Amino acid sequence: MTNDLISTARAGLSRPATVIAAAPGRVNLIGEHIDYCDGFVMPFAIDRYIVIAAAKNNSTQARLSSAGLPDALIDLSVPQMISEPHWSNYVRGVIDGFQKLGHEIPGFDACFASSVPGGAGLSSSAALECATATLLEGLLGISLTKKQKALLCQKAEHDFAKVPCGIMDQFASTFGEENRLVMIDCQSEEVTLVPFENPDLAVIIANTNVHHQLSDGGYAIRRRHTEEALAAIGHASWRTVTMADVENHGDALGDLVKRRARHVVTEIARTQAAAEALAAGDFLQLGRLMDASHISLRDDFEVSCTELDLMVSIAQQIGRAGGVLGARMTGGGFGGSTVTLCENAQAESIITTMRTAYREATQIEPEIFSSRPSRGAHLVLPG
Ligand code: ADP
Ligand code: MG
Repeated sequence: MTNDLISTARAGLSRPATVIAAAPGRVNLIGEHIDYCDGFVMPFAIDRYIVIAAAKNNSTQARLSSAGLPDALIDLSVPQMISEPHWSNYVRGVIDGFQKLGHEIPGFDACFASSVPGGAGLSSSAALECATATLLEGLLGISLTKKQKALLCQKAEHDFAKVPCGIMDQFASTFGEENRLVMIDCQSEEVTLVPFENPDLAVIIANTNVHHQLSDGGYAIRRRHTEEALAAIGHASWRTVTMADVENHGDALGDLVKRRARHVVTEIARTQAAAEALAAGDFLQLGRLMDASHISLRDDFEVSCTELDLMVSIAQQIGRAGGVLGARMTGGGFGGSTVTLCENAQAESIITTMRTAYREATQIEPEIFSSRPSRGAHLVLPG
C-alpha cells in the first residue's frame, strides 16, 4: 500500500490521527453473479485501498471528509437512518451494525483517501464499508471475526445503499492476503485461501471508464430472475441444479430466465473447474475458463456492454502468442472493468496495446494496471 495514501488521509484531518484503517478493493478472477446463488467465487484483494485517518473529537458526532465529495455529519447518539450525502450511507450502515451489536461509538473526525476507482466494478463500496468497520474496531479497541465483519458490511450495503449484493466483495476485502486468492463457498460461507504466487503470471485490470445507468436496476433484476428460476426448478439451492433440470423446466422459465439459469449453472461448474486447474497449476485452462465465463455473462446473463466486450476482445486477440491466457469482464457489469490473466514478462506491452486499441476505438481513456493479491482490511495505526 502506498504511504502516499496514508499521508493524504492524515493531512486531511485537522488533528493528529490516533487510528488509521485501510481496506482494499477486489477483482474477481472467476465466478461472476453467483455469490448470491450459492456458488463459488474466486476474487482477490487488490493493491488499491481506501484509507481512513481518524481521531476522537469529544462529541457525539462523526465528522467525515473525502476528497471531491461533500462533507458528512453523523449523529451517533440516535439510531442511524439513510441520509445525505449519498456516500455517508455506507458509513452510516456500518455504524448501525456496530450500534446494534451494543457498542457505543465515540464522536470522531475522519478523513477518507482512496486509490480504488469508484463505480468501476472493483468494489470501492466494500472497501469503504470494510475500512469503516476496521476503523470502528480501532476506535472501540475491539475486534470482530473477519466473517462477522464482512457480513456486517454486506448488511450495511443492503440496508443503507439498497444494493442487494452477495457476500463476495466484503469477504474479499476482509479476508484478502498477499499471494492468495480468496475462494469463497457462498453456500457455506467458508473461505479457502488459495496460493496465487507464480511470478511468471500477472493479472491486468482494465477500467473501461464507462458506467451505464442500467447498473442500478439491472443488478437487482438479475438477482430476482435467479430467485424466480430456482423456485420454478424447485430446488433449495443452485448447488444441486443441473443443466438437465434447467432444460426440463424450459417452458416454465421462458427463454430469458432460462438463459439466466444457464449462466448460474455453467458458471458454478466453471469456477469449480478453475479451482481444479489452479490446484494442478494449469493456468492455460484457467484462462480458457475465464474466456468462457465472459461469453456466458455477455450472452446468457447479459450484464456486459460494448466497451467491456471490446476490452476483452482486444486482450483475447493479443492471444497466447502475445502472452494472454484469458480475459473477461469482472464485477457487476454494465461497464466497469475487465480482468486479464497473462504472462508477467508481457504484461507491460499487453497494457500498452490494450490502452491504445481501446482509446482509438472509443475515444475514451481507460485506466489499466496490473495487480497482485494483497492484504485485506487492517489497522495501520495502532499497528
Ligand atoms: P463499486 O463498488 O464498483 O466501486 P458502487 O456503486 O458499488 O461501485 O460504489 C461506489 C460508491 O461508493 C460511490 O458512489 C460512493 O458513494 C462510495 N465511495 C467510493 N469511493 C469513495 C471514497 N473514496 N470516499 C467516499 N465514498 C466513496
Ligand atoms: Mg459496489
